[in-house]
Amino acid sequence: MLYPQNFDVIVVGGGHAGTEAALAAARMGCKTLLLSHNIETLGQMSCNPSIGGIGKGHLVKEVDAMGGAMALATDKGGIQFRILNSSKGPAVRATRAQADRILYKAAIRDILENQPNLWLFQQAVDDLMVEGDRVVGAVTQVGIKFRGRTVVLTAGTFLDGKIHVGLDNYAAGRAGDPPAVTLSSRLKELQLPQGRLKTGTPPRIDGRSIDFSQCEEQPGDGMPGGVNEGILPVFSFMGHVAMHPTQMPCWITHTNARTHEIIRSGFDRSPMFTGKIDGVGPRYCPSVEDKINRFADKESHQIFLEPEGLTTNEYYPNGISTSLPFDIQYDLVRSIRGLENAHILRPGYAIEYDYFDPRALKSSFETRQIHGLFFAGQINGTTGYEEAAAQGMFAGINAALQCREQEAWVPRRDEAYLGVLVDDLITKGVTEPYRMFTSRAEFRLQLREDNADMRLTEAARNMGLIDDARWDAFSRKRDAVSRETERLKSTWVNPRNLPAEESERVLGKAIDHEYNLFELLRRPNVGYADLTQMNGGKYASPDVSRETLGDLSEAVIEQVDIAAKYSGYIDRQKDEVERAAHFEKLRLPAELDYMQVAALSFEVRQKLQKHRPETLGQASRISGVTPAAISLLMVHLKKGG
Ligand code: FAD
Repeated sequence: MLYPQNFDVIVVGGGHAGTEAALAAARMGCKTLLLSHNIETLGQMSCNPSIGGIGKGHLVKEVDAMGGAMALATDKGGIQFRILNSSKGPAVRATRAQADRILYKAAIRDILENQPNLWLFQQAVDDLMVEGDRVVGAVTQVGIKFRGRTVVLTAGTFLDGKIHVGLDNYAAGRAGDPPAVTLSSRLKELQLPQGRLKTGTPPRIDGRSIDFSQCEEQPGDGMPGGVNEGILPVFSFMGHVAMHPTQMPCWITHTNARTHEIIRSGFDRSPMFTGKIDGVGPRYCPSVEDKINRFADKESHQIFLEPEGLTTNEYYPNGISTSLPFDIQYDLVRSIRGLENAHILRPGYAIEYDYFDPRALKSSFETRQIHGLFFAGQINGTTGYEEAAAQGMFAGINAALQCREQEAWVPRRDEAYLGVLVDDLITKGVTEPYRMFTSRAEFRLQLREDNADMRLTEAARNMGLIDDARWDAFSRKRDAVSRETERLKSTWVNPRNLPAEESERVLGKAIDHEYNLFELLRRPNVGYADLTQMNGGKYASPDVSRETLGDLSEAVIEQVDIAAKYSGYIDRQKDEVERAAHFEKLRLPAELDYMQVAALSFEVRQKLQKHRPETLGQASRISGVTPAAISLLMVHLKKGG
């Protein structure tokens, strides 16, 4: 049957990429259809029940700054919040939350079901409708044909998914869900470049069988006994503490020599070590057998016992992801302190799945081969909910822009972690599941969690992604930051008007000439509150008080303080950004035949011909394309080649 309505954007897959893609396209006014296997699993966390962390939290804040759902759903489902690296510089500070799976999913579904322009439909998609070199829709398992101007594919770990437990394996998208085998074959027929990756998950444990008295308690920030008691962190710009449900602690235990012995005894039945698994797994997130194999000298590994929710006894033992046979899993879990009587609710497993080489995507995430077809999430070789959500929102935006016949939106590497993610994927591809780290961003000083809104909300508003309430709150914050910065820069403190003891108390030592407040705030030991309260509150501003700005006041003060403390570094980074921008602006002709650029080595010519970078900046980041090759290419272009 041909469905009687046509859509602008059809999103296939309702995971973290798919839900953000569908929301973004619908918010931009496109008639959007979200097709997924099962409406009950929209926004499901396949693995660990947590959102954020270093690099990943930055992406969540960016998605949030553009009106996405992940941070808000985390505020509604988060049962433990922490600010990681809180004692380090603001660039690497990151929010992480433990989420109640059920509450998180319910929050995502609520947002989806209340989004105008968005239709949900439960069915497996088995085929894409392609006419010439353009996608025109998707076909479901029972033959329903949905026509759409664009299709965003976000099939996660489901494409030809295969689960391994020991030497046993079976086809699945993740435990309890069917694989997408027919769709995978269809994509292979379309000859999109593809490979296999793998990831894994630990066995889950019934909390009633854990002896918590043998484990170390780890409260979240703001919880009794935790950092900043009484002050719970919040993820979303529009979130507030009152949204958070009851908070719960995590627990810490460790593996030991006996655990390692048990794990080693299962190596001969490990699908990883016996060659049953071909797919490459994430090196930085290894299975426990991989850790024991690679770090044979290490006597113990830390395990976090993370609650899966408020209405379940299930615990996620973070650190013992495994695909060893179940009898080994059973013994290894019971060899761990506190888990001697543990009951396993679900076995751990590894999953292998198809991904597609992201170098075959344009910088908008549209496939080069098939117009109107976009890929986002795990299908592009990444891992992680946050990486998926950011890509989904990005692909949804670009599918919507294409429907509006507008140019693609692609943030630069100095504007957003999203820019780094997209650029890394399309220029370098992946050799293992890609996850975000702050070290991937060369301009990380300006890509902070705290200024994600300042970097992205205006662009999002211009594209139609930001509602009036968020825009109003953002504008008030932005204007207050700029007014307060100006006020500090133009308010002068004269030593004659400042008592010496006051100057020494706040500034460390008496000042000998006139300074403005912004200059004084640059000093590492000078806090905003002390400075503005100096001299009987003479320098305070009613404009940034709680009375005027409510919850926004702390965020405004934070921005002003960071701008002052880091202004030297940030200015230096701005120079680097300007230099790099020169290359980014130089677009390479789409029809350029690199094989004819004789000055380049054969290898470089081949690489450029294959990957067809859109800008000189992108070309410079392809592995093997040297700075010398870039200079030669510039000369060629200047000559009109
Ligand atoms: P998914 O969340 O997989 O969602 C895909 C969606 O598409 C699902 O709703 C599915 O039903 C739907 N779908 C698929 N095919 C079709 C079709 N043909 N028709 C209709 N609907 C379809 N990440 C980490 O960061 N750390 C980890 O340790 C980690 N371990 C993992 C372990 C396992 C076992 C698994 C399965 C995943 C793990 N992940 C881990 C990855 C994380 O779950 C994914 O990165 C993230 O969920 C990807 O989001 P996505 O939206 O791309 O895909």
